[in-house]
Amino acid sequence: MKEGIHPAYEPAKIICACGNVIDTRSTVKSIHVEICSACHPFYTGKQKLVDTANSFRAATPIGASVA
Ligand SMILES: [Zn+2]
Repeated sequence: MKEGIHPAYEPAKIICACGNVIDTRSTVKSIHVEICSACHPFYTGKQKLVDTANSFRAATPIGASVA
């Protein structure tokens, strides 16, 4: 990786609305999300979701290409 052409890539935390905190690395110090692997119904198998995911799904239909 060349010096000077990349933004700083430092330890960061992803902070979920459910309270889960995930350590990662990013160019920003912290990232706030509303769904993470700990509370996403795909992983939990529970249906407790949430308008954000529904509206996201509506805005990006399955099969839609992001060209
Ligand atoms: Zn979460």
